[in-house]
Amino acid sequence: MDTEDGGGRSLTFKILMGMAAGVVAGMILNAVGVESAVPDFLVGGVFHVGGSIFLASLKLLVVPLVFVSLVLGTAALDDITKLGRVGGKTLALYLTTTAIAISLALLAATIFVPGSGFDLQTDVTFTAKEAPPLSQVFIDLFPSNPVAAMASGNMLQIIVFAGLFGLAMTLAGEPGKRLIKLFEDLDAVIMRLVMVLMSAAPYGVFCLLAKVFATQGFEAVAPLIRYFVLVLAVLFLHALITYPTLLRLLSGLNPIRFLQNMRDPILVAFSTASSNATLPVTLETAEHKLGVDNSIASFTVPLGATINMDGTAIMQGVATGFIAQAYGIELGPTDYLMVVVTATLASIGTAGVPGVGLVMLAMVLRQVNLPVEGIGLILGVDRLLDMVRTAVNVTGDAMVTCVVAKSEGHFSREVFNGVAADD
Ligand code: ASP
Repeated sequence: MDTEDGGGRSLTFKILMGMAAGVVAGMILNAVGVESAVPDFLVGGVFHVGGSIFLASLKLLVVPLVFVSLVLGTAALDDITKLGRVGGKTLALYLTTTAIAISLALLAATIFVPGSGFDLQTDVTFTAKEAPPLSQVFIDLFPSNPVAAMASGNMLQIIVFAGLFGLAMTLAGEPGKRLIKLFEDLDAVIMRLVMVLMSAAPYGVFCLLAKVFATQGFEAVAPLIRYFVLVLAVLFLHALITYPTLLRLLSGLNPIRFLQNMRDPILVAFSTASSNATLPVTLETAEHKLGVDNSIASFTVPLGATINMDGTAIMQGVATGFIAQAYGIELGPTDYLMVVVTATLASIGTAGVPGVGLVMLAMVLRQVNLPVEGIGLILGVDRLLDMVRTAVNVTGDAMVTCVVAKSEGHFSREVFNGVAADD
């Protein structure tokens, strides 16, 4: 997607320009005051409409793309036992990176004590919310109606259905082979559509960022500056130290090259604050820039967009420490362990859409009996942090995707190094 167009500029460059222009326009409008007539027309009208259309056009691709691409991916697996192995590795890596993320965040919150000086009182008692029984979690993986699963965008159910469908296609002989051709054509067309819609990305991100920065008051940041900076610092630490180290150790790949190849998904994730909306771009990048075979990426990327949210886990870790400190409540070692386990599990089954991190945070707070209304304290800066943590979430999905693909031998070093255009 980095191809140059007639103007000679790469799409990535144009997206960056759109983002910068959006931030500047938003800040100017914020200074003028969004309530006055012209800013209101721009922010509530033009930017809102433009941004929403861009988001919808990315999201409209998610269900067909995941289904078609994953059916193809499963059908291409020559050995069915591979499916279990790939699934196991992916899940283990997703859970481990999330646990590392939240542990780093809790450690940072303990060392830097961002919530000191708030001195809030609470006499409300909270009872822990019952976690859904594990049996139900497994039952809910299987769609009784695949059309309903697609209509509601239930990613885990779509993944299971597509996997079974692809499996049946390999077992069905000739009819299956004929269908594979059809799915290959569909996949090529949908991937092309991703590119077509991405050409509007510079304008889309402009509208999204202009709206956020016009409506986001920076007064909210000042009292929370320590919390804000700490979350950002841990996010950067995870993205620039944990991921590169794991990538190097587990796959031997060059982390700098990896991050360079990830430019487009990172920018789109930042602008949309939605791993789900970014999914088409992440998948396209995994296959055409990172060199991951479709048989791996079609499974690991959608799964990651749904269950792997390291950036979100980091916010939860720091926020839990912050809220406990602000209310003067001591957390013991078991509480910390509880936070790690709940935050890791809470990310499974909560889709990557804007703001979902706060919903998960409520679950974590309840689990360790902290006042849920403490979330109100950090609300003002959450939208800005959401953008950065979504970029981290997406980077984590792609890192694990590369590691799994490399270990399975479904990986092209030439594409990764940019010496072979595979399309
Ligand atoms: N917006 C995040 C994502 O889509 C989730 C969150 O942290 O709220 O990955």
